[in-house]
Amino acid sequence: SKKIKLGIVGYGNLGKGAVKAIKETRDMELVAIFTRRDPKDLDMNEPNVKAVHISDAVDYKDKIDVMLLCGGSATDLPEQTPHFASMFNTVDSYDTHAKIPEFYQSVHEAASKNNTTAIISVGWDPGLFSINRVMAESVLPNGETYTFWGKGLSQGHSDAVRRVEGVKNGVQYTIPAEDAIEKVRSGQNPELTTAEKHRRVCYIVPEEGADKAEIENTIKTMPNYFADYDTEVNFITEEELNRDHSKAPHGGFVIRGGNTGEDNKQIYEFSLKLDSNPEFTSSVLVAYARAAYRLSNEKQFGAKTVYDVAPGHISERSAEELRRDYL
Ligand code: NDP
Repeated sequence: SKKIKLGIVGYGNLGKGAVKAIKETRDMELVAIFTRRDPKDLDMNEPNVKAVHISDAVDYKDKIDVMLLCGGSATDLPEQTPHFASMFNTVDSYDTHAKIPEFYQSVHEAASKNNTTAIISVGWDPGLFSINRVMAESVLPNGETYTFWGKGLSQGHSDAVRRVEGVKNGVQYTIPAEDAIEKVRSGQNPELTTAEKHRRVCYIVPEEGADKAEIENTIKTMPNYFADYDTEVNFITEEELNRDHSKAPHGGFVIRGGNTGEDNKQIYEFSLKLDSNPEFTSSVLVAYARAAYRLSNEKQFGAKTVYDVAPGHISERSAEELRRDYL
């Protein structure tokens, strides 16, 4: 049968991961990559992929079923998702948790008005972790849910530090507190502040002549990203960054300790251990593109989140096959 036609908007880490993830599917194909840069300037190590300037995307309205939006959450997606949702079905990985409600509203307006389906905040957190938080809580209402991240390089937070004035380059690691994880796993349901669960450690390459104290202060006081955390800022050279910080591992845990009956402890745990955060995240985006396509065919228009998408909708397998072989 006919393959689902995909486009990629933004050729950064996620965009590159998406090219690879699409190849792993049998029912989807890549039509083109759209970029704000001159398409000739992209370091395309993929010979058969077409790069197009983003302003020409409108010409692809009838040639693409779903656009994978791979821009950054800090400033790209708040503009790009409503814009593209007015022309295409979309999937994005918007991860500024505190601003998801307003982001949802603006995307929902654009998608509803134009009869498109836009699945927002897909990935692993938000995304697969969100699903597991809701599953665990619904099944074990008497309990407590904990999310730990890392040790890992956070794309969202690295993206945010790189946009700080005077920062040439940089990365951010999120580190979970081992003793806190052990307490949670033992079913004690401890009270833990976010800072008690994690630390944030940044490695920053400053621009020449930049005010380091100012950079450090801007990062440490950045709302949503760093202000609530115990944050450490280290300054390093570009050389050190390339040598020691060029991989993008990540992962984490969603753990709920619940009680049922008289005094039975039930521990629900979901974890991910990822060699490449962006490649995994784009794999989730690609699976949800299948759902966006199907929901749009069912005329379920507007903005959606992972909570609105049934697991069968992201699977390449038919409902019949899932019932027969996977239940
Ligand atoms: P990048 O910084 O690599 O890419 C973001 C955008 O920047 C690209 O779309 C691209 O746009 C532009 N860009 C990339 N490389 C260059 C370059 N060399 N020169 C100039 N511009 C460039 O971000 P990621 O792909 O790593 O991540 C995107 C977002 O995904 C993050 O902000 C994060 O919020 C989110 N995310 C969500 C996760 C989740 O679980 N929900 C997990 C991981 C990430 P263009 O091609 O148009 O220039």
